[in-house]
Amino acid sequence: MSTETLSVAGHSVSPHHYINGQRVASELLFDLHSPIDQSLLGRISEGTAAHVDAAIAAATAAFPAWSALSAAERKPYLDRFAAEIGQRAEAFCQLESTDAGVLLSRMAHGVVPRAMLNIRWFAEHALTLQDQPIDTEQAQHIVRHDPAGVVVIITPWNAPLMLATWKLGPALAAGNTVIVKPPEWAPLTSSLLADCAHAAGLPPGVFNIVQGSGASTGAKLVSDPRLARVSFTGSVPTAKWIAQAAGANLVPCSLELGGKSPFIVLEDADIDNAAATGALMYRNAGQVCLAGTRFLVHSQIRDAFVAAMRSYVDKLNVGDPRDAATEVGPIIHPRQVERVQGFVQRALADGAELLWGGAPHPFGAQYYQPTMLANVRQDSEIVQNEVFGPVLTLQTFDSDAELIALANGTDYGLGGVCYGAVEHATQIAQQVRTGFIWVNSFGIRDLAAPFGGIKRSGIGREGGNWSFEFFCDIKDVVVPKKPFRASFSQR
Ligand code: NAD
Repeated sequence: MSTETLSVAGHSVSPHHYINGQRVASELLFDLHSPIDQSLLGRISEGTAAHVDAAIAAATAAFPAWSALSAAERKPYLDRFAAEIGQRAEAFCQLESTDAGVLLSRMAHGVVPRAMLNIRWFAEHALTLQDQPIDTEQAQHIVRHDPAGVVVIITPWNAPLMLATWKLGPALAAGNTVIVKPPEWAPLTSSLLADCAHAAGLPPGVFNIVQGSGASTGAKLVSDPRLARVSFTGSVPTAKWIAQAAGANLVPCSLELGGKSPFIVLEDADIDNAAATGALMYRNAGQVCLAGTRFLVHSQIRDAFVAAMRSYVDKLNVGDPRDAATEVGPIIHPRQVERVQGFVQRALADGAELLWGGAPHPFGAQYYQPTMLANVRQDSEIVQNEVFGPVLTLQTFDSDAELIALANGTDYGLGGVCYGAVEHATQIAQQVRTGFIWVNSFGIRDLAAPFGGIKRSGIGREGGNWSFEFFCDIKDVVVPKKPFRASFSQR
C-alpha cells in the first residue's frame, strides 16, 4: 500500500491507483503539469497490465455481495459518499482548477454541488426501479433491472469530476462494481473521489481507480472480456477504437462524444439576450462538448448581432482560473493550443474573415483569445470539425429551409441553441437533428432528462431511467397463469 501523496494548491492527493480498497503505486510514473503556468504538479502512476488485472479481479470479487444488496441498502453508502465529496469541496475546487484549468468559481458553485447531486439523485432514483409486472392472459411477467457486473468508466479532461460522478452515481446505485480510468491530463479530482469512497465505507473492490494514459492503460481496460459495460465520454477517434475493442468481446458501450452544435439566431430573436448567451460559448476556453460553436444568424440581423456579441466578448476577462474575476481560463495542454492555432490559421488561409481574436492571448502560453471567424464555407474544416477551444464560426441564412440545411450539415449531432420568438424557435429546434437543443436558453440540465448525441456525437443516452437501462441487465421472469404441460404441438 502506498501512502505517498502530492501537495497541490495546499491540498494533499494521492498520485496512485486505488484498487481493492488500497492505494497502489506504479514503478512507471508520468509527469502532470498545470495548464495555468505549466508548473510540474507531480508524478502520477501509470497503470500496467498487472494493475488493470488486479482492478478487474477486485471489482469481479466485490460484485456478488454489492449486487445482492437492495437499492435501499446501497443508498446509505452513496449518501455518505456524496457527503464526503461535500466535506472536501474546497480541495475538489482547487485541484480541478489547478490540473484542468476550470474556473474556481464554476467548480464551487456548479461542479462540486452537481457532483454530490449526481451521486445522491441516482441513489434515490434507484429506489423507484421496482420490478415491473406485465399481466397477460397467459402469464405474469416480472421485468427486473439486474446489476450488470463490472463497469469501466473513462472520462475526458474537460470535466473529470462532473463526468465521473454522472456515471458513478447510476452505475453504483444499480449494484455494479466500477473501475474509473481518469484523464491523464487532469487525474487529481478522480483520485480524491477514491478517498471519499474509502471514507464512506464502500466495500473494497466496489470502486477502483486505475490511473494512466488512454493508449496504454485505457486500451488494456476496455479490451478485457470480464467487463459487463464500458461507459465512455471523449472524442470520436477514441470512441471508434473503444467500440472495436469492447465489441470484440460483445461488451456494450455507451459513447458520449464531441459536438459541432449550431447556435441559431432567428430574425425575431432578442438580439441582446442571444449575444450575452453567445459570449458564454467561450466558457472553459471553449472546451465544452455541448457549446454552440457554429453561429447561424439571419442575414437581416447579422450586423446588429455581431456588434452586440462583440460588446460582451470585449469585456471577457481571460486569465488565471483561480482569480474570481476570470471568465475564460487556459487551454489544457500545449498540444491543444497548437491544435487550436492550426485550425484558425488554416481557416484564415482558406478565406475566413476574422471578426475578433485569432491569436494566442498575452496572459500566458496556454491562453487563447476568444475568436470568431466569418465567411466560412459549410464544407470547410473549421465548420465541419470540432476545435475544442475558444473558436467560433459565423454563417448567415435567409430562409428557414437554408438554416435547417446548414444546422444539420455536419456529421455531429450533440446539442444546439435556438434564439427567436418562442413558437418559431421551438418549431426550428424540432427540425435540428441533435440529441438535445435549448430554446432561448443554454445549459439547463435535469438529471431526469436524457442526455447524449446522435450521428458521430455518440451512442446511447445518460440521465434518469436511461442511465439505468444501460447499467442494468433487463430480465423477464415469466410465470404462467395456468398449469403448464410440455407438448410438441405448443406454439
Ligand atoms: P480523448 O478521447 O482523447 O480521451 C478521453 C479519455 O479516453 C481519456 O481518459 C483518455 O485517456 C482515454 N483514452 C484515450 N485513448 C484510449 C484508448 N485507446 N482506450 C481507452 N481509453 C482511451 O478525449 P479528450 O481529448 O480527453 O476529451 C475531449 C473530447 O471529449 C472532445 O471531443 C469533447 O467533445 C468530448 N466530450 C464529450 C462530452 C459529451 O458528453 N458528449 C463531454 C465532455 C467531453
